[in-house]
Parts: sequence; C-alpha cells; structure tokens
Amino acid sequence: MGSLFLSDSVKSSQGSYKGLHILRKNAFPKQCVCCGNLFKHLKEFLKNTQQVSTGSGLMEYKISSCLGCTQVVALYRNCVCGSTLLVFCKCRRNTSSLGLRRKELFGQMWEQLKERGISHPLIRNELLRVVHGKQSKLLTNLGIDYSEFQKIAHACVKQQFIV
Ligand SMILES: [Zn+2]
Repeated sequence: MGSLFLSDSVKSSQGSYKGLHILRKNAFPKQCVCCGNLFKHLKEFLKNTQQVSTGSGLMEYKISSCLGCTQVVALYRNCVCGSTLLVFCKCRRNTSSLGLRRKELFGQMWEQLKERGISHPLIRNELLRVVHGKQSKLLTNLGIDYSEFQKIAHACVKQQFIV
C-alpha cells in the first residue's frame, strides 16, 4: 500500500484544505496506530498523508449539544501505510451562534415568502436587501417581521462573515 503514496496528489489537492483548523488542540501530535508515523501538526499531516480515494476526504457532521447543533468537518486521510486517519476540524463556514441564528431566520423568511407564492429570484433579492440593511416593502406589505433577521444579519456582516 505504501507504494500508492504520491506526494504530487497531496500538493495539488491542498487547496481544498485551505482555512481548515483543528477542532481540538490535543488532536496533534497525531500518531498512526498502524505504522507509528507521527504528525506534529495539521500541515505536516496533510503533507505526509494521501488523499482518500473518495475525494477530498472532507465530511461535514452535525454535533448536537445543549447549545444546539455545531457543524464540524471530519478530515480523512490515508497514511503511507494505507490506514485511514481521521482528524476533526472546525467548519469553515460561520458556525457561531449568531451565524446559525441568521441561517435559521433566513430559512424561515424564505419559507414564509415561498408559501405566499413569491418567486425564488424575488425572495433572494428581497432578503439580500434586508441583509444589506435596506427596507423591504414586500416583506412589510406581507406583514412579515424581519427586524430580528436584519439585526442579526447586520451583526454578522460587521463581523465580516460571508453573507
Ligand atoms: Zn500509518
């Protein structure tokens, strides 16, 4: 299995791992239980392991806790010995409670507008207006309260989250 290790494929695929941060500090140093290979940090781990056959090896998981759902990213890589190693990373998207609430509200607004027969491009347009701090006549006329959504969306923008 060791002969399947191609350093070039790791290099070319590293773009998809940009911005990944480990979920727990004690994830490294990580040792392969099979061959004893030691990885000091995530960078070294990515460098000295190979992409799994299924693709980037990145999988999103939802972890439920008392605070709600947290999105995490599981990173699967193949060690030179052939065994698959797993490291949990933080989700690169906005997973703060603020961001989650914004997403939730966005979904709710979308559903409400959809139920009223508003077309998708128009919904998108109106919600983007709200996100950018503008008033939405459409939402007001339909009696949909968007003040909380606007407040949270605005707070997210201020924190430089991607809208
Ligand atoms: Zn190994």
